[in-house]
Formats: sequence, C-alpha cells, structure tokens
Amino acid sequence: MKKCKYEFIYTPNKRCKENALEDNDFCIFHADFPKNEKKLEIEIDKKLSSADYDFEGCILNEIDLSDREINQKVLLNFFDATINGDFIFNGKSKGNKGKVEGLNFSLATVKGNIIISDLIIQHTLNFQNTKIDGAANFSNLEVNENAYFNSWGTHKFEVQKIAKFKNLEIRRNSSFKGSLFKESLDLSGSKFFGNFKFKKVKIYETLKFENVCIRGKANFSKSIFNGKVVFRGSRFYKITTFYGTKFVKNANFQSIGFKGMTNFKNTIFKEEINFNRASSSPSNKVIFDGCNLENIRFKDSDFSRCEFKFSKLPDRIIEDREYKEKKQNLIKELKIINNSILFSGYIKFQEYTKFPVFSQIIKDAEMIAKTYKKIENWLKDQDELDKANQFYFNEMEMNREIYAYKNKHKWIRYSIWWIISGYGVKRSRLLILIGLIMIIIPLFVNWQTYIGFIVGGIIAIMLSSFLSMLTKR
Ligand SMILES: [Zn+2]
Repeated sequence: MKKCKYEFIYTPNKRCKENALEDNDFCIFHADFPKNEKKLEIEIDKKLSSADYDFEGCILNEIDLSDREINQKVLLNFFDATINGDFIFNGKSKGNKGKVEGLNFSLATVKGNIIISDLIIQHTLNFQNTKIDGAANFSNLEVNENAYFNSWGTHKFEVQKIAKFKNLEIRRNSSFKGSLFKESLDLSGSKFFGNFKFKKVKIYETLKFENVCIRGKANFSKSIFNGKVVFRGSRFYKITTFYGTKFVKNANFQSIGFKGMTNFKNTIFKEEINFNRASSSPSNKVIFDGCNLENIRFKDSDFSRCEFKFSKLPDRIIEDREYKEKKQNLIKELKIINNSILFSGYIKFQEYTKFPVFSQIIKDAEMIAKTYKKIENWLKDQDELDKANQFYFNEMEMNREIYAYKNKHKWIRYSIWWIISGYGVKRSRLLILIGLIMIIIPLFVNWQTYIGFIVGGIIAIMLSSFLSMLTKR
C-alpha cells in the first residue's frame, strides 16, 4: 500500500500516516474530490476515537464534536483544513464547560457556520487567516493564553455572516488585526486581560462592544466601522488609541471608562458621538486630535482632562440645538391650548411655570449649562481662551434661559448684562452703547443739545458702574 503524499505546510517534517486511496496520491482525508460521505464519516470517527485530532490540510464534511470525549491534552489541529459544512463544538452539552488543549484553525476554510462555545482552552486559540463563509459563534470561551483572529499577508480572517464573540475571557493577548466582518460583530461582556489589537478591522454592520473589559493596551487604529458602534459601559485600563479610526454611523461611548491615556487622533466621526456619563482617570487625558466634534455629547461625563487639538467644536452643542427645537415645538403646542402664554414673542414667566412640562425643559437647560461649563474649563486648561469664552457665553445664555422660568429678577439682570457686555465677554458692546446714547439723547432733548450730552454721559457712567457690579461673578 502506498502512503498519502500530502505535504504539511505547518510542520514540514511530518508525513501523513494514512494509506493513499486507489487511483490517488492522497488518503481519504487529504484527497480533493467528492468522497463517499459515509466512509469518510467512519474514518473521521475512528481517528477521533483514537485521540488523533490532527486534521491539518484535510478536506472534510460537516463536523460536530459536541458530544465527543475529547482528550484534554491533545491539540485540535485544523490548520489549512477545508470543512465543506458546519463545524460545531459546543462544550456545554456535558453540563459544564468542556476543556481542550488548544485549537488551531489558521488558514482553514469553513464553508458553513462555525460554533465553538462554552469551552476552556488551556493554551492558544488560533484562527489566523481563517475564512468562514457562514456565521461564527465563539461565545463563552475561556482562553488561558493568546487568542488570534487576525490576518496577515494576503490572507484574511473573515466572517461572511453574523459574528458573535460574547463573554470571551482571554488571559493573555488578543488580536483581531486586519480581520473582516461582512455583517455585525458582537463582543459584549468579554474580558481581555492582555493587550487587545483591533487595528485595521473592517465591519460592515453593527459593532457591539458593551461592558467589555480590557486590562492591557487597546488599539483600534485605522479600523473602519460602517455600522453603528456601541462601546457602552466598557472599561479600558491602559493606553487606548483610535488613530484614524473611521466611524461611519453613530458612535456610542456612553458610561465608558478610560483609565489610561486615550487618544482619538484623526478619528473620523461621520455622525453622532455620545460620551454621556463617560469617565476617565484623573491622571490621564482623553485627547481629541484633528476630529470633527460638531455632534458630540458630553452629558454628565466625567473627564478630568480632555484636550481638543485641532478639533472642530460646534458653536453650540448638539443638546442646545435640540433644546431650542424642543422649546419652539412646545411653545407652538401650548399656544394652541392657551394663547396668553405668548405675549408678542416675549416670555410670560408665571404662565410658563404653570405647565409642568417646563420643569423638564429647565432640567435640560441646567444640564446644557453644566456641559458648557465643563467644556469651557477643558478649553481654559489648554489656553484656548477664545473658544472658552464662546462656551462661557453659551453657558450664561443657558443660565438666562433657566432664570426666564425660575427667577424673573435674575432674568432681567442677565438680560441687561447680555445686552451691555455679552456677559463681560463682548465688552466693546458697552462703548457702542455709550456712543448710541450720546447720539440718541440730544434728539429727544432738542432745546439745548449740550445738556443732552451731559445726560447721556451721566447715564453711560451709571451703566458702566452697573456693568462692573454685574461682571463680579
Ligand atoms: Zn493524508
């Protein structure tokens, strides 16, 4: 009997022990033609029963290892194998998680779906350049060493359908570098104890990354996320980088925790960016360098230091724009109910507060004022005084809004302060005002023009002292 002539790529010194088929150089596992399914199944069964898990380069049909006794000390090797169907290995069927030595699927092709779940992998999980034509489910895996789902050379780790990688626990490093997901990817609930490489990853639909914990460095550079991205509640403990990462749809970073230095350098945000309730450690900065932040939300976020280098900030934050719209609609609505609420477009304070809906409006305005103050402080830290003044002005405008509902006298004071000096930010306004008074007063006091000037001067002095009183915050 002649032996199978298959040449191993991964381990070049190895030779296939099997006999070659009649009229073929290869054995039943390595031969590449439609095989007798029943016969192949029997042979696979024999191989597995003798704890031989070396399927390197084999061309196989569907495989299900879920109900098999698998020797925990032998590596499951499917390197460069082709599976013309599903590959299923669910360790849960034995009551608790099944244990295996390791899994190597590098350069393998799975034509159907792949389910590898509820397993403890004692060493490495290797899926470099693996091609999966169906869906992939890698949930509830514990990996004691590294996990590789990455691409190199001209090959790619790619999943054509939905990919679930939920509740993974990777004790050492993980890499998804250069991988491709044609539909969505879900990594929620996973824990990565080492470094996490997520560079040059491309995802066509949603990326769910909720409540993920990354203890090592995390790198999302140059990845392209074509769908929504949800990072809600995740924790990053070391340096986290998003260099040139592209978010085509909404990016949700709600309640995220950055413990290490975080840098969004040249990150492309196409739609809304949500950092509500996000936090960072006091000793590390969150840097937005060269980003367009016109649609960013910072409600109740707690970044002690946040830097906006060359980044585009809006004149008014997104919540402010929404607030104005909401208020307009509400006024329109209430106008139908009660016409007296509007008095030639001016606010009738007491009327407003009669409507309970305005208590929410006030809360919104207070939150917006707080957000403006926070951004103003971050800008002051960086000596971006012009922009800081703009946000201070916006904050005062929001305070004036709040007093419109809450405190009529304060509203009047803020309104005067706004008119004469733009809350001290636009001081030239006072000079313009004095000039106007000097011109206008004589027109009224026409019998002796110069008396008008004196009166005008007195009023200007009074106003400027009033201003100095108001600018004392
Ligand atoms: Zn062979």
